[in-house]
Amino acid sequence: MPHWKTLLKTSIIRPADLPLHLVRDQAGMARVTSVYPMRINPYYLGLIQEPGDPLWRQAMPDSRELTDRVCMADPLAEESLSPVPNLIHKYPDRALFLVHAQCAMYCRFCTRKRMVGTTRMRITADTIRAGLDYLKKTPAIRDVLVSGGDPLLLEDEALANLLQELRKIKTIEIIRIGTRVPCVLPMRVTKKLASLLKRFHPLYINTHFNHPAEINQTAATACARLADAGIPLGCQTVLLKGINDDPAIIRALMQKLLTIRVKPYYLFQGDMTRGTDHFRTPLRQGIDIMRSLIGHTSGLAVPTLAVDLPGGGGKIPLLPEYAQYCSGKIRATNFCGHDFTYVDPAE
Ligand SMILES: *Cc1c(COP(=O)(O)O)cnc(C)c1O
Ligand code: SF4
Repeated sequence: MPHWKTLLKTSIIRPADLPLHLVRDQAGMARVTSVYPMRINPYYLGLIQEPGDPLWRQAMPDSRELTDRVCMADPLAEESLSPVPNLIHKYPDRALFLVHAQCAMYCRFCTRKRMVGTTRMRITADTIRAGLDYLKKTPAIRDVLVSGGDPLLLEDEALANLLQELRKIKTIEIIRIGTRVPCVLPMRVTKKLASLLKRFHPLYINTHFNHPAEINQTAATACARLADAGIPLGCQTVLLKGINDDPAIIRALMQKLLTIRVKPYYLFQGDMTRGTDHFRTPLRQGIDIMRSLIGHTSGLAVPTLAVDLPGGGGKIPLLPEYAQYCSGKIRATNFCGHDFTYVDPAE
């Protein structure tokens, strides 16, 4: 397999350069890419079988991205929650630090679609410095999520320097990296990268797989390298209409993730991001999918279904109802629909 940088350089960024059998509505695709960039690297392109398949839909521009009149450019109010550019401080003890503007693929449903991969996302040595300074003077932040774009597209040296700077801040206990690289460009996870990351423990990685067809030997090798470096791996999956909005697909995905040592973390209801309305699924369906998981497969395979509230409200869990609280007891219905009672201890 070619080097990851070669794969990135040879990515398709213009619909006109796509293999003809994968093109649908080339003019529409071209209009979309003048607003929202496309990048499909040869690895991910090779996983796509045919137009309309679940991987094709994640990667290929769709003219509906331009006709969304429901959703918002910045649904999570990230801009108003940024004390300095590219650092979002929404929760008391953690912050989201955007350190790279590009990704190994531009997912059509991206929450930061308004800026990722464009000149609207400006990350420079100065913004990184300002972010580090803010973290330094805000000791309440004990958990930093390094994200973007995709931080693992940084060169090894730049990434090591950044992590080193974060580790100099003694109030930061945990570093988390959010990256789609293990899924969309797994060859970026070299042995050298894994041994570099290992120097900065406790370090967690949350990756992002959306469909069982994204999990193969190459992705498994990438995850094994990270797991062997002692890095706990989580996955943040997004529910996507026409891609994975189905209990059997989500169950297969969650079970398959565990076989490559990735623990499902969040299952996200789609954000209300402008240009992604056509991907959103009914809330009810997410709850039904959770019902189809809980009790029917390992608890390890069950993520938290969450919605990140528009306006910067943060993430809240959505759960099916299993229990009714009465005085001194609960009446519960189990995963098979049978009723049980649990009695509180006497006072
Ligand atoms: C999701 C998110 C976090 C992390 O939330 P967890 O529930 O701890 O994973 C932190 N900051 C921002 C702005 C986020 O969007
Ligand atoms: S990898 Fe993440 S940040 Fe990049 S385009 Fe996909 S969803 Fe957006």
